[in-house]
Amino acid sequence: MRCYLVIMPAPPPPETIKVTSHRVACDGSGEVSPALGHPRIYIRIDPDVGFAECGYCDRRFVFTGGPADTEAA
Ligand SMILES: [Zn+2]
Repeated sequence: MRCYLVIMPAPPPPETIKVTSHRVACDGSGEVSPALGHPRIYIRIDPDVGFAECGYCDRRFVFTGGPADTEAA
C-alpha cells in the first residue's frame, strides 16, 4: 500500500467578510476544508472600529457601512 504525501497549498490571505451584524460567528469553515476549521466562536465587532478578526483563522469581519467598510460611499 502506497502512502502519498499531500502537499497543501499555501494558505490564502485572510478573507474579508462583510457582515451586517455586530455579532458574528466563525468556525473557520466555508472557503477552506472543514478539516481546517476551528471551534465555533462568536466575535463582537466594536461599532467604533467597524471590524473584528477571528483569533483562529484571521478572517476579518467588516461591518457593512462601518468605519472599516472602505467600499462604502
Ligand atoms: Zn475563524
